[in-house]
Amino acid sequence: MAAHIGHSQKAKPLSPVSVTFLGTSSGGGPILSRNCSSLAVDFGNEIWLFDAADGTLMRLHQSSLRIANISRIFITHMHADHTLGLVAIMMTIMSGVGVKPGENEELAKLGTKKKATFHIYGPAGIRKLIRTTLSVTSINLAGVFAIHEILEQGEEPSVDCEEENLHSNEAVGIDFIANDDGVWENILQQGNGKSGKGWSVKAGPIHHRVPSLGYVLAEPVPRVQLDTSSLIPLLKSNAEALASLDPPIKHPLSLLSHLTSLPPPPPYTLPSGDVIHPPPPSGISPRKLVIFGDCSGGTENSTFQKMCENPSLLVHECTNGHIPHDVQRGDKGMKIRKKDLEPSLEAKRDRLFFHKPTDGKKGHPHENGNGHHSFEDILAKDNEKRLEVQKKALSRGHSTPEEVGNFAKTIKARRVIVNHFSAMFPSPRYPSTEPFPSILSPISPFPYPSPTSTPSNAHGYDPHVEPHSLTKNELHTRLIMQSLADQITEIWSPPADRDEDKIARMAIPSRDFMSIRIPSHELSDIEQDDIRRYREELDRVMGSWKECGGVWVDLPKEVGRIWLGVEPAPSIGGKTAPQEGNHIRYEE
Ligand SMILES: [Zn+2]
Ligand SMILES: [Zn+2]
Repeated sequence: MAAHIGHSQKAKPLSPVSVTFLGTSSGGGPILSRNCSSLAVDFGNEIWLFDAADGTLMRLHQSSLRIANISRIFITHMHADHTLGLVAIMMTIMSGVGVKPGENEELAKLGTKKKATFHIYGPAGIRKLIRTTLSVTSINLAGVFAIHEILEQGEEPSVDCEEENLHSNEAVGIDFIANDDGVWENILQQGNGKSGKGWSVKAGPIHHRVPSLGYVLAEPVPRVQLDTSSLIPLLKSNAEALASLDPPIKHPLSLLSHLTSLPPPPPYTLPSGDVIHPPPPSGISPRKLVIFGDCSGGTENSTFQKMCENPSLLVHECTNGHIPHDVQRGDKGMKIRKKDLEPSLEAKRDRLFFHKPTDGKKGHPHENGNGHHSFEDILAKDNEKRLEVQKKALSRGHSTPEEVGNFAKTIKARRVIVNHFSAMFPSPRYPSTEPFPSILSPISPFPYPSPTSTPSNAHGYDPHVEPHSLTKNELHTRLIMQSLADQITEIWSPPADRDEDKIARMAIPSRDFMSIRIPSHELSDIEQDDIRRYREELDRVMGSWKECGGVWVDLPKEVGRIWLGVEPAPSIGGKTAPQEGNHIRYEE
């Protein structure tokens, strides 16, 4: 078949899409370094939020995201740590400041004919939560929103959209009912809306203590570019004939945007007899993002599992996890960790309910007579502890690295990021928002990347603060989070598989403000280089930490080389090495 008229061979480049984490704590938080759940998918001209815990609005202000670009908010489930920031965000995006008296009364008169420009999606209850909050707090809004409830078969919406029940600024929302397979195929259809680059949204059920949803975002199939240099003359030569059609096509060039509309239209025959086609697929794989709410690992719905297959990115919760003994470094590690754990509600609850007697009794069941653990004992205890943590997590509808790894492997995820960490896992304080910063980078002066590290921070706020030198406590925190990610990677992409497909993969533990670009469905060369560089440094650091309980770190010349560790530095050549804190230059 000859090439269609008007189609260049050039593939249209993929538009930028990035995911920014705004809150990565479980409901036991927030803690200083982690707000509760929210993340933003940024299409460049439009932002979709997933979950909106209390405090999300401030995280948005602190980030480089443009709040005005938020057009849709998707809620995974009704738990407070995913929903209580919604109305505050609406108050900002739809600020009623400047609305003249009587304006909203006029709007209310439009009743069910209002057209929404801002959309919220979520399980049953979301409409009632928002409507009730708006009405009892007498919030003044501008513009029109709609709330769509995603319902199981037989489930009733929390409140209906009858004219008399709508808020003055509310349009009729859709009640999406699950199909016979128990999934929602049409939350947002391909090409729906002008922005969002035409991505579609589907949803499916995941297992949690309350109904919880996973969302699947799919990019339309990328197509080649229209060759306007041959199309425009052709359309212009048909201008007169097109204008005399019934109904007339007054602007022949409007057929150009018709050809690229979504879903792709059927071929169109011009009055001259020439047939013009929508541009064919370019062969570039479309991207797919799978974003899960709280769950005890993957989905039990086989149709939904199929819908999740081959994602460019899987975002999955990992509330709990066992820290391997050689990373935790026993009681010594626990002691320095406890010092840094935030006085969060969860820590308080742990003290109240899981209080361990401190009667000075020493010794563990796996300790031998010398107070040392044998290697086998440590492995056995590690495994025992891992199963215990897993059992507790699953019983509360949450996941551990094992569930994430297994699901990521089953659906062949290209990238994996975990979030929703228990308050026992405070965030590392990397100064950068990159997914793979150096594990030895200095510490951010804030509990999260300093506002100056986000170059396009909307407010240009510059607090003139520099990152400070890495400490052993911070390195310990980083390695603990890394050990959770390693457990996932080990199952999802074990070394044997990695050699085979020669693709560097690594699960990422998210941090507040961490941002990842998804440049293509498969990992780009740049991303793989980043992972290889990160892994090389990590292997050295993690190896030394596991073996010796610390690592040598080269700091600037005036500081020299110092030992950061839970254990004292191994002495070399009879010389005592300097410990962290005393900046004595170490002579080799
Ligand atoms: Zn939660
Ligand atoms: Zn929950």
